[in-house]
Amino acid sequence: MALISNEEINAIRASANIVSIIGSYIPLTQRGKNYLCVCPFHDDHSPSMSVSEEKQIYKCFSCGATGNVFTFVSEYENIPFIEAVAKVAEKCGMKLSDSTYKSNVSQTFKEEHEIMELSQKFFQNNLRTNAGVEALNYLKKRGLTDEIVKEFGIGLSLDSNDALMTLLTKKSYDNKKLLDIGLINNVSGKMYDMFSRRITFPLWDKDGNIVGFSARIYRDEKNVSKYMNSRESKLFKKGETLYNYHNAKDYAKREKAIIVVEGFMDAIRISNIGIKNVVALQGTAMTEQQISLLKKLRVKVILCLDNDNAGLLATVNNGEELVKHDVETFVIRLSGQKDPDEYILANGNEAFVKNVETPMTFFEFKMNYLKQNKNLENVEDLSTYINDVLKSLSASNDEILRELTLNKLSKDYDLSLDMLKNKLNGLSPVESTRSVSEPIKEKTKKDGYTIGMEKILYFMMNGEQYIKEYQCKLGFFAEPIYREIANEIVYFYEENKAITVADFITYIVTKNEIKGKVMEIVNESVNDDVTMEAMDDYIKAVMKIITKNEIKRLKNLQKSELDIYKKMKIAEQIRELKKEDV
Ligand SMILES: [Zn+2]
Repeated sequence: MALISNEEINAIRASANIVSIIGSYIPLTQRGKNYLCVCPFHDDHSPSMSVSEEKQIYKCFSCGATGNVFTFVSEYENIPFIEAVAKVAEKCGMKLSDSTYKSNVSQTFKEEHEIMELSQKFFQNNLRTNAGVEALNYLKKRGLTDEIVKEFGIGLSLDSNDALMTLLTKKSYDNKKLLDIGLINNVSGKMYDMFSRRITFPLWDKDGNIVGFSARIYRDEKNVSKYMNSRESKLFKKGETLYNYHNAKDYAKREKAIIVVEGFMDAIRISNIGIKNVVALQGTAMTEQQISLLKKLRVKVILCLDNDNAGLLATVNNGEELVKHDVETFVIRLSGQKDPDEYILANGNEAFVKNVETPMTFFEFKMNYLKQNKNLENVEDLSTYINDVLKSLSASNDEILRELTLNKLSKDYDLSLDMLKNKLNGLSPVESTRSVSEPIKEKTKKDGYTIGMEKILYFMMNGEQYIKEYQCKLGFFAEPIYREIANEIVYFYEENKAITVADFITYIVTKNEIKGKVMEIVNESVNDDVTMEAMDDYIKAVMKIITKNEIKRLKNLQKSELDIYKKMKIAEQIRELKKEDV
């Protein structure tokens, strides 16, 4: 990866105003010299995030999120730090010195990505030639607009069996590599283009790199499967991607929701009617990685899977997994047609939009699902149903949901609320008492010594004079993590001949051992008035405690010392320390 120097990163940070950058994502209101907004990093209902223009730092009072303009963009957009630097530079109209810098292309598979890009251009171009007329007509007939064809990079693999292979070998890419990434096929020793005679749809990884293709027939062909997909390769790992994620994530953040469908055609169809916050699983079961991608968006997830038994079961299972991961989950169940693609074709855009606007909560869906095949007039069925509902409710951490559901069950079936409550409590796992929206961070009370050290470290991040004061009056912290942070501050200052909190944060983002602590310190102190007087007060307080501890240690030593001369020497030391300590 191209390297950007620290000086350049700091210069970008200095010319970016954190208030306008965060303001470009979330509305901010000015409160005194700071700005407030709803925190995008936890389920925030009242503005908990404060942005300091003076310090160029943000902090959340509730979940503890803290950082500078780069960490914000990196976290918000769910992109690597260095990519966030590039993005901020772009937003400020600055150009990075390294013009070849393209951060989201993994260098590990540079050549593989080049081959994919080249193949993609070739396929896309084919669709615009005479050979592509029939395929393009087919797409038009299916109601896909020109913009969508472009947006989703739809192309055509020609009728010839080796058009792509010829092109790529001419560019001296070797066949082994083409086989590896699934662009060509080996049939009894003879090589062929993998996707001949098919319309091609590129598949991307989460960052938007093409990693494979899906291809479908467009003529009436017998005895061939409708779709053909790239096989899993070192480039293409189906379970690690969500189709269209790189395009949909910004829309999802804007809409505060992401729609999840099964097939990529569903995603394309839904985008075609202007709903862009949609991704496809390319299957039915959600993997851990897919859940983690969805969770990172911090928006609600709307499951809109196929209208068949597999889709129904997948909705139950995926929904449960999402809820377990504290993702706010909703469900749309379409009726009549097989999938969203066909539903929209048959019922029109508006019918689908209406569904999107009124999704049911996952729990509502689950309650209906549990009713299936049961006659609730029948006591036995009713009892099974109530037990199923309570069991599924016990998996939820949402207190409000629990309360509402119990009330509803009690009312609907004329059951005692206390009985239901007792039963639910009996089922509940012990750890599930925390409400989902509650911030995860628990603050432990800090003693004066810890507070003192942390304040001193914070002050040191604010300028040379505080570093000098520390070096001159303290020079050392006994606790390893604080010593480490102090050393890093001093080192940073000596390297850069200047220090600000915001630049120091850039420096420590890769230092995992101290990063968390530094962010915590900044979070707790960013609104402090930084003055030398306050610094000296903290130093005095810390020194007092250090002296006290030292006296305690010496007294213990004195007790166990047998040599009378040494004992006297220790007493002398204690007297000296006590003198200092006034
Ligand atoms: Zn927060």
